[in-house]
Amino acid sequence: MTKSANLGFPRIGAKRELKFAVESFWRGETGAEALETAAAGLRDTHWKLQAEAGADIVPTGDFSLYDQVLDMAVLLGAVPARFSALEGLARYFAMARGADGVPAMEMTKWFDTNYHYIVPELAADQSFALSGDAPVRQFREARALGLNARPVVIGPVTFLSLSKPAEGADFDPVSLIEALLPAYEALLANLRDAGAEWVQIDEPVLATDLSQAQRAAFETAYERLSRTGPRLMLTSYFGPLADNLDLAILAGTAGLHLDLVRGAGDLDPALERLRPGQRLSLGVVDGRNVWRTDLDRAYSPVRRAAEALGPDRIEIAPSCSLLHSPVDLDREDGLDGELKSWLAFAVQKLGEVKALALAAAGDPGSAPAFGASRAAAASRRASPRLNDPAVRRRLAETGPGHHRRRSAYPERRPAQARRLGLPAFPTTTIGSFPQTAEVRQARAANRRGEMDDAAYDAFLKDETRRTIALQERLGLDMLVHGEYERTDMVEHFGQLLEGFAFTRHGWVQSYGSRCVKPPLIYGDISRPEPMTVAWARFAQGCSDRPVKGMLTGPVTILQWSFVRDDQPREETCRQIALAIRDEVADLEAAGIAAIQIDEPALREGLPLRRDGHKAYLDQAVACFRLSAAVVADETQIHTHMCYSEFNEIIEAIAALDADVISVEASRSRMELLDAFVDFDFPNEIGPGVWDIHSPRVPSAEEMAELLAKAAERLDPARLWVNPDCGLKTRGWPEVEAAIANMVAAAKALRRARKAA
Ligand code: GLN
Ligand code: ZN
Repeated sequence: MTKSANLGFPRIGAKRELKFAVESFWRGETGAEALETAAAGLRDTHWKLQAEAGADIVPTGDFSLYDQVLDMAVLLGAVPARFSALEGLARYFAMARGADGVPAMEMTKWFDTNYHYIVPELAADQSFALSGDAPVRQFREARALGLNARPVVIGPVTFLSLSKPAEGADFDPVSLIEALLPAYEALLANLRDAGAEWVQIDEPVLATDLSQAQRAAFETAYERLSRTGPRLMLTSYFGPLADNLDLAILAGTAGLHLDLVRGAGDLDPALERLRPGQRLSLGVVDGRNVWRTDLDRAYSPVRRAAEALGPDRIEIAPSCSLLHSPVDLDREDGLDGELKSWLAFAVQKLGEVKALALAAAGDPGSAPAFGASRAAAASRRASPRLNDPAVRRRLAETGPGHHRRRSAYPERRPAQARRLGLPAFPTTTIGSFPQTAEVRQARAANRRGEMDDAAYDAFLKDETRRTIALQERLGLDMLVHGEYERTDMVEHFGQLLEGFAFTRHGWVQSYGSRCVKPPLIYGDISRPEPMTVAWARFAQGCSDRPVKGMLTGPVTILQWSFVRDDQPREETCRQIALAIRDEVADLEAAGIAAIQIDEPALREGLPLRRDGHKAYLDQAVACFRLSAAVVADETQIHTHMCYSEFNEIIEAIAALDADVISVEASRSRMELLDAFVDFDFPNEIGPGVWDIHSPRVPSAEEMAELLAKAAERLDPARLWVNPDCGLKTRGWPEVEAAIANMVAAAKALRRARKAA
């Protein structure tokens, strides 16, 4: 019989129970035992929930108190020396978050998702040793419930590929494969001894372009591991295996999972080349989105595979772990029935997987699910809410002219300089100022109806006015209004645009205990009325200095939302771009001289494979330009990005043709600027001189030194002075002190230049 399998389940809990348990432990309010009880309770609940929802095979070991890659590093004994004085949970959380005097390990995005993992740090002579038995314990816990449990482990090649050399070392971590394998062999042997027949071994690096070293490591690893004990379900996701398909098949594992949502093209070659007896797991339900699966469509590859291999050699699964999906749609009581009928969260997706498995086995029990899916798909296709003819007409009419500023940057520059009258090394901030408890309380009180709109508006105006006055007093040259009216830089705009919907509980883990609730884009996007103009006008009215208008860019809004799957993403992005363009035009008309369009997510949307980069970047750049290019020469367009890899996308950043870009640079001590220097970046740039991720206040000397470093390498006449990112997570005392120092640093530089 065809089995339904799950590859991983959200661990945070439908009510974010894990978040609250972990944070209460961090605050010292509860002890380790309470945390472990809460964690065990969630695992238990989630296993039962998955089994009830229809998963014949439930994953174990996918649970984590913080991050699964961190867990793997600890399990393999790869704990950096600076944490050796600590042990247990204290050490574990110190690795993730830092402890007194011990900096945390780096965190970065998990492939092209918005989930962040902790980057293992490995020494050139790193030794590994299996330490701890959490995988075995969790497997036993699930087995004790009478479930068909399948442990999940991150595969050795992916583990090494995601690691980095410890500070000061320079080598390819993948070269450690031989040293690593005994620990994996021990782990697999333990799982086998505990009764695990199968183990899911995740190697999502197979969805990326592999180096020669990675391929060799892969061959070495699976030559050994496929002989070790439990049968391995080699699992890759987030894209097609494509040229890595043979490598995956020849690994000789007992099973292979394919992400057929993103890699539908893998199926036919896989069916042809699969080795005798090899089992195929079909990832046909999208694990990364919230849309209900069209079961008829998803069934077509299932049928082909069942015909080719027989129903017993296939299993049905989500495309990837459901970690990236909200937990349970049933809890959503705020969505209208029609929209809700088009959605599926983790629990519902498992029902879909089950229906497909039943269908593959010829079980008529699948009929009701298929009927309901058909009805939902038909209702969605026919719904007038999805299409706005005016938006479509307008998009059809946009041409190259809408993507070009009137003049090139060298001509715009003097026009803007005349209008703005800024000093050399102009100082500014990225947008938000501290979202204090008071601000959050006022917002909550307004939402609950305890503070009426007028009182809330007055409160926000006070905050804004005070922030403008403070910026003047501190001597900043270009001001911001502080973004007090915004919960979040994407949600705020989503709430003001047509085509967006919001869930109440659609939380997805972003990192550690942090969750995000992405908006849902279901229909054509338009802007019924101006979104930020009133605030921009109010703020500008409080000062003679220029106050930046502050917008989130189309690529970032798209990237941080659940996007409709019934049209190409580019199309949706272009619709957002048009809405932002209207806002830009209105800000300009309101007399705003500088408008910042933030695109912090531009880089993370980059496809995993190089052959997809150009098309993605071309369209992302086009969308940004469509939103910005409406203004006159003397209106200054700013953009902002904050992540640490500009090299790959520097041409695209220049092609945005923003007049000014602010970027994160302080933690890398301006090394990030290499890309801008090598490329000879043509416009103005503000490299961050203050790491806002840390409460530490950098001194004026330190910031001046960073600036001098930047000025050696970039045209000093085109340098701006700003922090790495927005200040909303910081406290007021640090912010005031750091801005004062930053302004002093800029002044010192101006004096030095005059003297020279
Ligand atoms: N303008 C936003 C802020 O300052 C930018 C945030 C971001 O880059 N993530 O908060
Ligand atoms: Zn930022």
